[in-house]
Amino acid sequence: MTNFPKSLFVASLMIAGMNMANAQEKTKPEQTEFYTPVPPVVTTKEATLTAPSDAVILFDGKDLSKWVMTNDRTQPAAWTVANNVFTINKKSGNIETKQAFNNYQLHIEWQVPANIQGKGQGRGNSGLFLASIGKGDDGYELQILDSYKNDTYTNGQAASIYKQLVPLANPTRKPGEWQAYDIIWTAPTFNADQSVKTPARVTVLFNGVLVQNNAELKGPTQYIGDPAYRKAHGPSPIKLQSHGDPSLPLSFRNIWVREL
Ligand code: MG
Repeated sequence: MTNFPKSLFVASLMIAGMNMANAQEKTKPEQTEFYTPVPPVVTTKEATLTAPSDAVILFDGKDLSKWVMTNDRTQPAAWTVANNVFTINKKSGNIETKQAFNNYQLHIEWQVPANIQGKGQGRGNSGLFLASIGKGDDGYELQILDSYKNDTYTNGQAASIYKQLVPLANPTRKPGEWQAYDIIWTAPTFNADQSVKTPARVTVLFNGVLVQNNAELKGPTQYIGDPAYRKAHGPSPIKLQSHGDPSLPLSFRNIWVREL
């Protein structure tokens, strides 16, 4: 760098940085949506799994006392509880657990209304954020979607890690039937300088079928552009998504977690 003025060097670095920023702005959501190969369809019978004795019960059919609003954690979760299940209130926004978790085993059951309408991402879209690391949709999203005979990009169908990891199979049951996720989440760890030390890993059974096998995440879910670990975080709440699609809201039941 002997004959290269420092100011020019800094200027060229700045221009390179601006070009990268421009490239990021021009990236389209479609550039990270994939359609092949399509995970094979697998059928299973509806079943439930009761909580083990050492589990933390996050929803027992009675109330949402373990949950708060994501955008204002001082506010109680404003979703609707009735008939031992709770249903998304699309006007209110995402909800998340009061308690923060690091590594855990989680069970959750979800149901798409039998009379669901819409297609693709606009048909029964919700999501389970394995760690909520900010307001809105920040975090690592295990997609919840009606993927029964409903085509979309495969890294956006049910049990995908949204825009990152395609599920190994598609065991989605018909709308109106209950679906179950059993998840083992290993949170990422970070170095003192915020860089990632060990990436997050996830194993998911969807209706008892292995769909994510100790899979490594590239970072939190990112709708546009490539995911990456951009900031360190510690134990985090578990979040459920109130998605803005116009279709009918989903319901949930029997949620429990075991810290590991
Ligand atoms: Mg979603």
